[in-house]
Amino acid sequence: MTDYSKYSFWLETSGDDLTPRPALQHSVDVDVVVLGAGYTGLWTAYYLLKANPDLKVAVVEKEIVGFGASGRNGGWCSSKFPVTPGMLERRYGQAAARVLMLAMNDSVDEVERVCAGESIDAQFHKGGILTLARGEHHLPMLRSAFDAYCRLGLSQQYRLCGAPEAQERVRVTNVCGALYASENASIHPGRLVRGLAQAFEKRGGVIYERTEVTNFEGGSSPRLLTPAGEVHARHAIVLAGESYLTRLAKLHRAVLPVYSLITLTEPLTPAQWEQIGWQNRESLASCNYTVDYLTRTADGRILFGSRGAPYRLGSKISDEQDRHAETHARIQQLVLEWFPMLKGVKFTHAWGGPVGMPRDWMPMTEFNPATKIATARGYTGQGVSTTNLTGRILAELILGKRTTFSQLPIAQRYSPAWEREPLRWLAVRYMQNAFFRIDDAGKRGKPKPVDAAFAEFLGRH
Ligand SMILES: Cc1cc2nc3c(=O)[nH]c(=O)nc-3n(C[C@H](O)[C@H](O)[C@H](O)COP(=O)(O)OP(=O)(O)OC[C@H]3O[C@@H](n4cnc5c(N)ncnc54)[C@H](O)[C@@H]3O)c2cc1C
Repeated sequence: MTDYSKYSFWLETSGDDLTPRPALQHSVDVDVVVLGAGYTGLWTAYYLLKANPDLKVAVVEKEIVGFGASGRNGGWCSSKFPVTPGMLERRYGQAAARVLMLAMNDSVDEVERVCAGESIDAQFHKGGILTLARGEHHLPMLRSAFDAYCRLGLSQQYRLCGAPEAQERVRVTNVCGALYASENASIHPGRLVRGLAQAFEKRGGVIYERTEVTNFEGGSSPRLLTPAGEVHARHAIVLAGESYLTRLAKLHRAVLPVYSLITLTEPLTPAQWEQIGWQNRESLASCNYTVDYLTRTADGRILFGSRGAPYRLGSKISDEQDRHAETHARIQQLVLEWFPMLKGVKFTHAWGGPVGMPRDWMPMTEFNPATKIATARGYTGQGVSTTNLTGRILAELILGKRTTFSQLPIAQRYSPAWEREPLRWLAVRYMQNAFFRIDDAGKRGKPKPVDAAFAEFLGRH
């Protein structure tokens, strides 16, 4: 039997023994069936039952609840959307961008409300986000993000801080300034996803674990196909498998699995915390293209996440990529570069997982009443609170409701497919390499590489 606690510190400490629930044994009929027991699938299923307790809703999961990104992430429950405010403004206009940003704020609060209402001890802590400029070259990025938030009328929740204020909050090397964003929390991802599953079951929902969906059909007889039988759904099938959806032939090019990896320190001593500061437990990031995200955990460890594990031809997903030794070693090095006072600290955990990147960077949430197929996916690295929003939208769309949520720019939209291989591999490996070179040049105070503008244009979102 698989030891699921090995997949992340969060699953290991979820307060649950992770024994799989029974698998599907034979074909069944329900009202709505969901593929995937991560946040997207569970939020959708939860809100469906909350709105209509008489519905029969089932979730089918290949492994166990929280096996995917939902049980492995960095713990940021943030109002940050996968697409930057500037890009949202350009694509949808100021009014729509602002409404979406406010809906993201509300999703952070909604996660807290549900945790309180359902007694889920997800260690919700609203400490905000501090995005650090580590070098002068990062300052224009902070200024441009701040200006975009101001244009959307959100200046009251963002503040540009000078180096002294940033350093007072947290002692990180080479900090020249920061952007503070108040409407963000950190959570224990494993407790959230496992608790959400229990809340869904308390309302009468059923979860089949260790049951792989091998195909799906929409139309007059919508259903999920598994080796043990079919799950027929009267109203809708919901495809909520994020990056793992690429394993289904029909969705192979729907998103791009990009690996994000994490290392975790041992719990730090009070003396070490005294040196570091970070008393408000803000989520921390830099402006690097290779992405750095940090969380001070409730039990006093530093979680440091970053990208770097190379994209594999054919969108391959495997356990071996979660443990890409070179990337984990680089992240450990980064911990010491950011916090030199931690020389000699022990790293107790290392894991990772794929995030699903859509071709146009924008998550999609869609229900087609003709095919009865619903899906939400493509959060890149910003899915903890975004899935709460998409779950609420999908539930509304499936139930035929029309509210402000289903009018948001992420509702009823479809992202284009990624290019075929080997073009996909060539382009993604080029971008991964270019982002490393741009960050490295910035760190060394050198001019950007000659192809930087091209890479930045391609990666603009
Ligand atoms: C390392 C890492 C760090 C991250 N950090 C953050 C963060 O700090 N903040 C943030 O907002 N976001 C973060 N993210 C992204 C966020 O975790 C995800 O966007 C979010 O969890 C997606 O939820 P989901 O339910 O759509 O997908 P998942 O959680 O991946 O769930 C999909 C589920 O579907 C199941 N499944 C797939 N295919 C099948 C099939 N054929 N049959 C049956 N079951 C199937 C999978 O086993 C899986 O359990 C991070 C992601 C990773 C990997």
